[in-house]
Amino acid sequence: MFSLLAMATQILANVNALAQIVDDPSYLSSHGHVRNIRIPGDLIIGGVFPVHAKADNPEGHPCGEIAETRGVHRVEAMLYALDIINAQKDFLRGYKLGALILDSCSNPAYALNQSLDFVRDLIGSSDVSEYQCADGSTPENKYVARKNVVAVVGGSYSSVTVQIANLLRLFRIVQVSPASTNADLSDKSRFEYFARTVPSDNYQARAMIDIALNFNWTYVSLVYSADEYGELGADAFKKEARRVNICIAIEERISNKKEALTESIDNLIKKLQPDKQVGARVVVLFVGTEYVPELMLQTAERMKLKGGTKEQKKIIWLASEGWDRNNDAYTLGTRKLAAEGAIVLMLESQRVPSFEEYFLSLHPGSDKFERNKWLRELWMHKFNCEFDLPPESTVNRCEAHRQPKEDFNPDDKIQFVIEAVFAIAHALQAMKQVVCPNDTVETSWISRHSKIPDVCTPMTHIDGDVFYNKFLLNVKFKDLVGKRVHFSPQGDGPAHYTILNYQPNRVRSGDSSDRGDYVEIGRWSEDAMEIDETLMFWNMEGGDGKAPVSQCSLPCPRGYRKQLIKVDEICCWACGKCDDFEFLVNETTCVDCGKGRWPTKDRTDCYDLAHHELKHMRWNSWYSIVPAGFAVIGILATLVVIVIYIQYNETPVVKASGRELSYILLVSMIMCYSMTFVLVSRPTPLVCAIKRTGIGFAFSCLYAAMFVKTNRIARIFSQATRSAQRPGCISPISQVLITVLLAGVQLLGSLLWLYIVPPGTRHDYPTRDQVVLTCNVPDHQFLYSLAYDAALIVLCTVYAVKTRKVPENFNETKFIGFSMYTTCVVWLSWIFFFFGTGSDFQIQTTSLCISISMSANVALVCIFSPKLWIILFEKHKNVRKQDGEYRLAKSSYRSTLCNTDEISATQYTALLSDQRRRSSRKSSQPSPSITSNAHDTFL
Ligand code: GLU
Repeated sequence: MFSLLAMATQILANVNALAQIVDDPSYLSSHGHVRNIRIPGDLIIGGVFPVHAKADNPEGHPCGEIAETRGVHRVEAMLYALDIINAQKDFLRGYKLGALILDSCSNPAYALNQSLDFVRDLIGSSDVSEYQCADGSTPENKYVARKNVVAVVGGSYSSVTVQIANLLRLFRIVQVSPASTNADLSDKSRFEYFARTVPSDNYQARAMIDIALNFNWTYVSLVYSADEYGELGADAFKKEARRVNICIAIEERISNKKEALTESIDNLIKKLQPDKQVGARVVVLFVGTEYVPELMLQTAERMKLKGGTKEQKKIIWLASEGWDRNNDAYTLGTRKLAAEGAIVLMLESQRVPSFEEYFLSLHPGSDKFERNKWLRELWMHKFNCEFDLPPESTVNRCEAHRQPKEDFNPDDKIQFVIEAVFAIAHALQAMKQVVCPNDTVETSWISRHSKIPDVCTPMTHIDGDVFYNKFLLNVKFKDLVGKRVHFSPQGDGPAHYTILNYQPNRVRSGDSSDRGDYVEIGRWSEDAMEIDETLMFWNMEGGDGKAPVSQCSLPCPRGYRKQLIKVDEICCWACGKCDDFEFLVNETTCVDCGKGRWPTKDRTDCYDLAHHELKHMRWNSWYSIVPAGFAVIGILATLVVIVIYIQYNETPVVKASGRELSYILLVSMIMCYSMTFVLVSRPTPLVCAIKRTGIGFAFSCLYAAMFVKTNRIARIFSQATRSAQRPGCISPISQVLITVLLAGVQLLGSLLWLYIVPPGTRHDYPTRDQVVLTCNVPDHQFLYSLAYDAALIVLCTVYAVKTRKVPENFNETKFIGFSMYTTCVVWLSWIFFFFGTGSDFQIQTTSLCISISMSANVALVCIFSPKLWIILFEKHKNVRKQDGEYRLAKSSYRSTLCNTDEISATQYTALLSDQRRRSSRKSSQPSPSITSNAHDTFL
């Protein structure tokens, strides 16, 4: 208690000087300012309102211009509420509630001084003996007994309220504010007797965050005033912003110094990045009302805003309820351009029609008008008039003016002021019922109306602690518009906000703004927010319809990851491309999907390629159709040859070339062609087994037969040069057997390979985005499996080269030679091609098919076409000849070709002699070659 009194004395000492100035009646007259108004009553309720704005010049008088809405309207709302209570004779047993209403001038220091009036009686009244008049006489005590206030309604601006609350708590005076939203005021350890009918700014910060999130504004600037309202509001906003990852581009703490404001606005514009799509376009505004006009003016100037420049990127203000929509100064002149599109929060309230009626009925001269001295000042200011003019004066008379109905925009917090007064009255009523239960209203009509009730003693000294905790916090009542009013345990009101958007009506001429320019676009309460975006300014005619961007960086396109520019700056990033096979585990990390897996379209996951697009040869693709076409033609051609051969089976040409081997050759060719169909089929273990054995075997049959053919001729000729002894194993049976044996080696090898590595399929990944179904043996192993065939080709080629000049059977060896050279070329080029196109299984398979078919084609064309030509077109050559040559040759031929078909030998010899004749005619040069010798021997 001692410390409380010490503090009070300290405050009193500090404010003494100022109190003396403002108590000076000359001061009042020279400035025309009314310090307070007093309404007598049994119980006095205090009131503090910003009847005047803060003075522009801090050195001079603390009060500025009269504030119509936040000041005078609120004072009248309090008086009106008291009238309503006083009119109820049975409420509070008919005690009359009086008022002591002070003007805070929106200035905390001044308001603190003013508030001393609330506690003057508690800190002692003046002692007349201490004073002496100028003429030496003792002054008379003019003191009129003052009553302590039981509670105070106010202040409005948090900076003022905090100061007053600090004083009132010392004297345990309860305070109920209808407008102060500073979050600290909920702290009951500091403001034990403070309550309010409005919520804490912590909710307002959350509402702002929700609005920002709704429009995806993740990068905003923050401007706050250097006072209790701005600083606490900004703190709450920053805290909420951190929670939801909204970044603050720049924070500007502003004072009313013009130069500082200019610098702050330049910084905001820098962060707005007017030339770029991104930037902190939204500026959150937590400032007291007096900062806004200058802020708008300077913004318009710094940004060189001119009307009609709609495309220009402008700041979008997201303002707290400190923004007064009734203040025309905000939107005067070019300020309007700066304010356009602002989103403004307002505490949800309803108009009070009965109050509006009351206010509109006020007119100079009426009691209700005259009790509020500030109304006179307002009238003079508003109607530019004078009171009490002499009758002859032609100056505009204030008495003639009334508040015009159509022009009346009551303050938005009228409802809260009335609620605050009602709350105190209800608490007093509840208290009276407890502390003076027997102090009841007289039942007889006469005594009820003849006697002014005395206040029961316990009610004359109200202990704030009891009054606040026991009665005020527990009040529950319905206000004038039917809203249920009650306080939270911290003494706060409920948090409901209306979201407004400033959309100046362009049709209206002139610069003045009015309330109609603020369009209600939504609401916010703790559990829900509604915003009708179609009503937003940017959705109006002429706008592009999209919410503006307020982001540091635009979202990365799909498949890109965020690369944070600073580790702790989560809103600004560059975009880095992920590899095609990577997916995003989070916004900043690309991760490899792994072999055979591919990212989904949205890049959030991976899928198995094999399940979606497993690749293998398909019948309907050109890669299959073309080789299959080749193969079909090849098979048909081979079949035609077979048919012709069968048809001419007994003719010399067919017989002489060794029918068995010819048929083996033809069947091998069909096998070769057929391999195409195996290769283009979907790989299965069976298909793979056929592929691994079939290709090698078909080739081995083909080249084994050719090898046997060339080898036989070579052996015959080399033998013939040495002796007349015929070489062994040249009979058809032996030829076939040798062929079968040679081909069998390949078959055996392949089967053994199948046994060691059982056939199967596997997934191959030639590229990251492909999964190919293929046989389970690698390409090089397949190539090794053809090594034996290659050896046969080489041998065959060697023998073909050796016997290339043997004219036997129409130069058959020569044609075999051609066939073998071409085959070598085909095989070599295929090998290079096969490994060169390793990444494309389709090209690889197609090339293999075509190469196999080509090998067969080459053999078919080179070996069989000369014979077919003779069979079909030179039939005269394909007959048995009965001439001498035949007889001459018969014996020696027989001796050479043991057991060869006689007819064939005869015919063959006949043809051979014919051939020889032609070749000796063609070449005049002697041919002393082994070949001719061999021929001689052979024949
Ligand atoms: N909520 C503001 C403050 O706490 C006051 C707004 C008003 O008076 O309407 O400073």
